Amino acid sequence: MPLTSPGTASGRTVTILGSTGSVGGSTLDVISRHPGKYRVYALTAASNAAKLAEQCRLYQPRFAVLAESSAAEWLEAEIRDCCPETRVLSGQTGLCQVSSDEDVDTVMAAIVGAAGLEPTLAAVKAGKRVLLANKEALVMSGDLFMEEVARSSATLLPIDSEHNAIFQCLPEYFAVGEADRAGIHKILLTGSGGPFLNRPLDSFEQITPEEACAHPNWDMGRKISVDSATMMNKGLELIEACRLFGVDVDRIELVVHPQSVVHSMVSYTDGSVLAQMGNPDMRTPIAHALAWPERIDAGVAPLDLTDMAALEFVQPDLQRFPCLKLAYQALEQGGTAPAIINAANEVAVAAFLEGDIGFTRIPELISAALNSMPWQAADTLDAVIEADRQARARVRDLIEACRKPAARSAHV
Ligand code: NAD
Ligand code: MG
Repeated sequence: MPLTSPGTASGRTVTILGSTGSVGGSTLDVISRHPGKYRVYALTAASNAAKLAEQCRLYQPRFAVLAESSAAEWLEAEIRDCCPETRVLSGQTGLCQVSSDEDVDTVMAAIVGAAGLEPTLAAVKAGKRVLLANKEALVMSGDLFMEEVARSSATLLPIDSEHNAIFQCLPEYFAVGEADRAGIHKILLTGSGGPFLNRPLDSFEQITPEEACAHPNWDMGRKISVDSATMMNKGLELIEACRLFGVDVDRIELVVHPQSVVHSMVSYTDGSVLAQMGNPDMRTPIAHALAWPERIDAGVAPLDLTDMAALEFVQPDLQRFPCLKLAYQALEQGGTAPAIINAANEVAVAAFLEGDIGFTRIPELISAALNSMPWQAADTLDAVIEADRQARARVRDLIEACRKPAARSAHV
């Protein structure tokens, strides 16, 4: 089962799910550099109607979709005069429509979190060229997602910089699940280690959302920035890599590489190690996937190896980053366990960003959800969605239970 099948790079129509986000914005930046090659078909966002209106004025898409219907009403009135050809839709139905319309050939899946599952799957089922940034969708639905890719012959191209790097280091004939045939010894999945790689452990309690979102190398959305700080991002990426390339977890080695220059590597049985390198800028994997198998300008400065200090590679510290251990545990348990940790993480990170819980509570809450919820096979989408729902409810209850005594004592 090939991960991809070649296509043509000219005149592609592109839907960008999550166009107002960090990956969405970088995608529009790359597209703007190649006006004849790509046409923006649809732009979508959760609720940021003002930013979506601005993007509509610039790109004149056929559709603009907002998850929130009240925001969609505002947008419709706002762009009526400047974008007469743009139709405004709302909700999951609208998102799924612009992901699967027959006039679309490429879908950039850049919604953050589980909210991206349905529209991303809609694109896969419709056999589109799917550029996958939304790792949570694949982590949750795992084999079901990859089965749909195989069934529909969708072309799945990884956008996560590490997975895109691995993809670039694989032989052209690589088929999902056939690492032995390709002579792969190991996949070396790199990660920067985030902003707290060397921070004293006893000060983790005091970490603020601003500190957690200040990634040393990458400029990203707030949720993935916190995931990088806890290294849950690397845990999710470990699961993502197993699913995407069809390899067992023991064939993947996590390597902390603080400079984020080597984006990942593939080690072969003959002793060769192929690495993909570049400046840490998401426009590189985005341009690679948009144009694949061709190459286009991404607007990224060329890498100057003589200009940088030493490149370091060290093993991850599982004590410092307990989220990594939880990802290994979820992979071992299988079934709905990855969906549970993903959902628990989303709720815990949102609560941390709101100032409701401390940084060290994030892994504690994920662990509590994983270890208290019944194991189930993830053989239907309904089972996955139900596990997601229950894990969210469980973590919200745990957060609420902690909040109550504090709230009472405040009134004493
Ligand atoms: P972001 O928060 O900057 O943007 C998220 C986008 O999703 C926004 O357009 C937002 O409006 C939309 N969205 C959020 N909730 C939604 C909902 N309920 N319904 C519909 N749309 C919704 O996030 P980001 O950093 O761009 O990350 C997007 C995805 O890409 C994530 O899955 C992340 O893990 C992955 N990713 C990001 C980077 C990066 O550098 N930012 C790198 C690798 C992978
Ligand atoms: Mg990544």
